Amino acid sequence: MNNHTAKRLEVEGIVQGVGFRPFVYRLAGEHGIRGEVANTSSGVTILLEGIEKDIEAFEKGLYEKAPPLARITSVSEYPERVTGRSAFSIKKSRGTEEKSTLISPDVCICEDCLDELLDPSDRRYRYPFINCTNCGPRYTIIDDVPYDRPHTSMKSFRMCRECQAEYDDPGNRRFHAQPNACAQCGPRVTLHDSRRKKITSKDPIRKAALLLREGHILAIKGIGGFHLAADAENDQAVLRLRKRKHRGEKPLALMSLTTDDIRRYAIVEEADEPLLTSHQRPIVLLEKREFHPISEQVAPRNRTFGAMLPYTPLHYLLLHCGFTALVMTSGNMSEEPIAIDNDDAFLRLSGIADYFLIHDRDIYLRSDDSIVRRSDGVTRFIRRSRGYVPTPVFLKQDMGRILACGAELKNTICLTRENKAFLSQHIGDLENLEAYDFFCSTIEHMKRILHIEPEILAHDGHPDYLSTRYALEQQGIEKVQVQHHHAHIVSCMAENLLEGPVIGLSLDGTGFGSDGAVWGGEVLLADHHCFTRKAHLDYVPMPGGEAAIKEPWRMAISYLYNAFGHAFKDLDLPLLTQIEGHKIEVMVEMISKGINAPNTSSLGRLFDGVAALAGIRNHVHYEGQAAIELEMTAENGTEKPYDYEWTRGEVQKILTAPIIAGVARDMENGVRPSLISARFHLTLIRLFKELCEETRAETGLNRVALSGGVFQNAILLTGLIHGLKESNFQVFSHQLVPTNDGGISLGQAVVAAAVARK
Ligand code: ZN
Ligand code: ZN
Ligand code: FE
Repeated sequence: MNNHTAKRLEVEGIVQGVGFRPFVYRLAGEHGIRGEVANTSSGVTILLEGIEKDIEAFEKGLYEKAPPLARITSVSEYPERVTGRSAFSIKKSRGTEEKSTLISPDVCICEDCLDELLDPSDRRYRYPFINCTNCGPRYTIIDDVPYDRPHTSMKSFRMCRECQAEYDDPGNRRFHAQPNACAQCGPRVTLHDSRRKKITSKDPIRKAALLLREGHILAIKGIGGFHLAADAENDQAVLRLRKRKHRGEKPLALMSLTTDDIRRYAIVEEADEPLLTSHQRPIVLLEKREFHPISEQVAPRNRTFGAMLPYTPLHYLLLHCGFTALVMTSGNMSEEPIAIDNDDAFLRLSGIADYFLIHDRDIYLRSDDSIVRRSDGVTRFIRRSRGYVPTPVFLKQDMGRILACGAELKNTICLTRENKAFLSQHIGDLENLEAYDFFCSTIEHMKRILHIEPEILAHDGHPDYLSTRYALEQQGIEKVQVQHHHAHIVSCMAENLLEGPVIGLSLDGTGFGSDGAVWGGEVLLADHHCFTRKAHLDYVPMPGGEAAIKEPWRMAISYLYNAFGHAFKDLDLPLLTQIEGHKIEVMVEMISKGINAPNTSSLGRLFDGVAALAGIRNHVHYEGQAAIELEMTAENGTEKPYDYEWTRGEVQKILTAPIIAGVARDMENGVRPSLISARFHLTLIRLFKELCEETRAETGLNRVALSGGVFQNAILLTGLIHGLKESNFQVFSHQLVPTNDGGISLGQAVVAAAVARK
């Protein structure tokens, strides 16, 4: 005993609900160490007593052998008195004042559980809620910390003897697995018709699969909410789903049992596989195969399918019934938040779904599927939600406690503590009361489980955004207004641990400008604290405001008028024959007289205008559709951009007239849209690259940050990254949060912290 020492380790990070304590218990056993381990509200505390070199080996193993879902962010050591303990034990959780532990995201079913699920001799054979410390729901079933069963929606299920024995056995994979359950004691699945009448069946899941096979639409309760499902090979079923859900042409997500099944309809490159099979199980956007069995209704006029692998045991059981793919789209009417509650689902989805496959484990917090896409060899988030949230983004500096309210579309919120930024799951477009309620409840929920009471509120500059109004209504708290495109650039800087200053290319759809105009084609000089506007697309009017976003032909007329004046009507353009003359006249009136026609410098709108001019489409079913289709038509290999130029002066104006004139000339000459699109993309790449070079010569800045929704365009993103690197710039883009408005709350928070520091 004389050669024994004792110490205490305070471990922080994602160390609860991920099998960390049994791991510590086993590790201590391996090294003959006595002591104890317990969850605290800030992580895990470990008391160690033994020979110095054994303790050292233990500490090394702590980092090297930690369970797959654990993430250690810090370990602090404190000396302790040697008391001559005789064993190592796992102690009950200790609630302390500081609740700052990290909560694990929801995790897809693990290999071990999947084996048991499909093993007829296992006691959980075909039990759709099988889980263990390495897998299962987390974030969506927690309503307080520490992460213990009474703080989860499993609290209403009392474990049977066998489950309890597993739960209490430190050597068991289910030791303290909070959602642990079996068919005897846990949640159950039931099948209902749309009037909630229960359909009795020995195996509701097999019966559900049969109904899907017959072409019915099912509402299926999952981890973060309801899905609406249909057989993806059945045209009629998919079409019916689209109609009932009021979903125009926006692509629907697919789920298949294996990567090989996905290969039947999409091209899965080697680098896509680890993404598809990762425990986050995002929807991955993949190039469509030329010939495939999937209904054209799934992703009309789109070159990609969004596909994912199953992530719950229930998904596996369903897909084992032999589907190439199921459509699995969020369970909502378009624009509303996804349904999570059984009553709510029957209320809102009974007009869409023929049958409901539900269960009695409550979902506390809604979380949509995440969406990713690889471009320039890197995974990019289009939507960062289930599987990733609430893992924080780690920042360079201490932030204090800030709540950033996000923008309006694709809203997320962000709460900060120390150097961690916790972005919420996808909340959606804050355009209706349901979405706003979800926004408010997410703020309250995250404040509680992360134990953050914000001292500063950050918000967008747009006075009509519901997120702005929320911020302004809060009393007794400091508020910081952050310009939309500044927030975009700082969001990119923050995740890349940059402090600035940088040249920021904020290429975007819509954002409230400091002068009241709608910005979105901005070259900024920015640091965390402030920005100056170096250059922007020259203003043109948006006739009808919001209506111009839904009807890209209006923007085409505006750009044409800007380039040619009234003479544009003499051009030989298909667009001018497609749209009735009097409608064009109305637009010209609005534009020339400035009636309901706010000025915009948005690059998103220029994309829309060019798409309409090139005959891609005049109306859109969802935000960005025209721009996406313009990108998808682009062919490879042009070296001929359109003419481009910008004005000199303090704030430079990038003229759209030469570009529009080039597109119009090509259209008159019958040039194919695929070449027009390629030339347009090349023009933007050259133009912004040269602008950056000129800016570098003036300012000496060599770092460029790329952000804003337009960078979801892979051709532009990849082209600009390569072009700028060729020119020896250091280029930074998004990898941790979306480049669209889903990532903007991070930038708002970081700007607010910088403003508060000054
Ligand atoms: Zn498992
Ligand atoms: Zn049980
Ligand atoms: Fe934006």
